[in-house]
Amino acid sequence: MEKTIEQIHQEALNELEAASEAEAVQELSVRYLGRKGVITSFLRNISKLPPENRPEAGKKANETKKALDKLFKDALKRLERIAADTSDYIDVSLPGRTLLAGSLHPITQITGLICEIFTNLGFDIVEGPEVETDYYNFEALNIPKNHPARDMQDTFYISDNIVLRTHTSPVQIRTMEKQTPPVRIIAPGKVYRCDSDLTHTPMFNQVEGLLVDENVSFGDLKGTLTTFVHRMFDDRISLRFRPSFFPFTEPSAEVDILCVMCRGKGCRVCSQTGWIEVLGAGMVHPALFENVGYDTSRFTGFAFGMGVERIAMLKYGIDDIRKYFDNDLRFLRQF
Ligand SMILES: [Zn+2]
Repeated sequence: MEKTIEQIHQEALNELEAASEAEAVQELSVRYLGRKGVITSFLRNISKLPPENRPEAGKKANETKKALDKLFKDALKRLERIAADTSDYIDVSLPGRTLLAGSLHPITQITGLICEIFTNLGFDIVEGPEVETDYYNFEALNIPKNHPARDMQDTFYISDNIVLRTHTSPVQIRTMEKQTPPVRIIAPGKVYRCDSDLTHTPMFNQVEGLLVDENVSFGDLKGTLTTFVHRMFDDRISLRFRPSFFPFTEPSAEVDILCVMCRGKGCRVCSQTGWIEVLGAGMVHPALFENVGYDTSRFTGFAFGMGVERIAMLKYGIDDIRKYFDNDLRFLRQF
């Protein structure tokens, strides 16, 4: 007998410690515990020992066999698990992943710019609900029952008395009900109308403006809007006020600006007229003041409203309003 069972056990443990792959452990298992393995041979050769030593040697050999079998199986399981698990494996040679930086939607950017221009002029920003009552959306704004704006084709009705607001003008009434003059507000927000084509979407954004104080004149309105247009586009863009009709202002005007594309020469955008309509405006109708309890002999005011998409189209030279809502990153990444 060349080696004792203890020596064999120790050698097996040393070799197992050095084995770093499953294949190596498998090979050890065969070499020690296989049919022709070291321990199997040891057991077979026990008969060559002196009779008094045989029971003790046999017992030890069987214990060693059992212990090694467990160690080999555990090591095999552990190594196979490590081989399968690559989650904590880091390939330092891979190029890094770029974090995509988002940006504000062009409509959000233009709304922000409009708000910035008017807050610099002393206006406060006010918001109102997008689901409105008939009273705030129509009645209080001096829009009688038979006005075309109430036509089912234009207005989304929730019920007989509840609508999706068709303009931001209800915010005028809500503000004046809570506040006594002077009032200087702009109200940005979404509005809804049943309309969809190259220049209309069922949802769009407006900014409403309202100023009420003593001695407010049409000249103040003109000065305010001229300042706005010059700051939004540039100083050489002139304005043109055309008489118009809105139920909530008197007198009322449509405001055109010199075409920012052709500077008045005439082009496709301005339909060869050299002018583009961007705003509705006017002096607040006394009926509105009566509705909110303002003294009509003391206070006057002006109001205006503009479509944010329209301003953004002119600012960025975009010809189709629907591009704003397509969620096409190739379009949105340009802003
Ligand atoms: Zn033009």
